[in-house]
Amino acid sequence: MHQKVSRAIPLIFLMTVILLAGLALAQPPKLKVAASIVPLGDFCRQLGGDRVEVQVLIPPGASPHTFEPSPKTLTALAQAKVLVFIGSGLEPWMDRFLRTLRDPKPVLVEATHGIDLIQDVPGHVKHQEAHEHKHPPAKSAVKAPKGSSHGHSHDHGAGNPHIWLDPILAQDICRRLAQALMEADPANRSVYEQNLERYVGELSSLHNQIASETAGFRVREFVSFHPSFTYFARRYALKEVGVIEVAPGREPTPRSLQNIKKALASYGIKVIFAEPQFSSRIAEVLARDAGASVLFLDPVGGHPPYGDDYLKMMQYNLETMAKAMK
Ligand SMILES: [Zn+2]
Repeated sequence: MHQKVSRAIPLIFLMTVILLAGLALAQPPKLKVAASIVPLGDFCRQLGGDRVEVQVLIPPGASPHTFEPSPKTLTALAQAKVLVFIGSGLEPWMDRFLRTLRDPKPVLVEATHGIDLIQDVPGHVKHQEAHEHKHPPAKSAVKAPKGSSHGHSHDHGAGNPHIWLDPILAQDICRRLAQALMEADPANRSVYEQNLERYVGELSSLHNQIASETAGFRVREFVSFHPSFTYFARRYALKEVGVIEVAPGREPTPRSLQNIKKALASYGIKVIFAEPQFSSRIAEVLARDAGASVLFLDPVGGHPPYGDDYLKMMQYNLETMAKAMK
């Protein structure tokens, strides 16, 4: 009797091992997906669900404009089967990295690809300048005053890259991202299709909510740290009338500070928007002089209370704007 039991134990153990191994085999490895910024990482998780393993390159708190990935990060990145990034100069190191990729290359999603990017920088005479670049001014044309050649968003590459902050353009990014997931993992096509339908619905609800709330804003103009909410503003008929830094890291000139002060006064703006990724020092000084206050809008996320969740981050941004503009 005793002997029988002791023989049965290894047998049960063996059967358990076989059973667990079987379960592990039934669960295929997850699709490795890499995203440059937190909101794109959230889109990957929303669309991929438990079928994907998502790596976000640029950690919360860092600005994509100034972040440089370590060689270790780039090695990990090279394992991804799908790689999604914004492009158009938001991740300046990405072009270099893409050139190092060997076959089999990941399926790439460049979010700004095929999108007509905004070229103007709010509060700067960008149109005129861009025009002058393309066509040399005629002899009779008045020369632009010295110092007016600032205001270019050339650091941003082909145009303003902050398209993900427009929930309608975010839907477009998600559609292309879902296509990429299907291409890399055709066996789970229906999962990605269902997730896309659900998430596009949620983005659409977000859009409707923002549209109806912003419609009631008393103040339509705002001043922000850098031109990150330009697409958002265009979508909801708001106006970014001034930015402190045309491109992050580029300190404002005395003249552009003067322009912001004028804008604050003429539109009756009582709040200046700073961003958690950058120093709010200049915003604080401007606000003090104008009797205004400083609130934070977050274009990339990763902070409490919204964390990595794009929809919650946009809710937070909407609430912040409402505090300032309602
Ligand atoms: Zn930016």
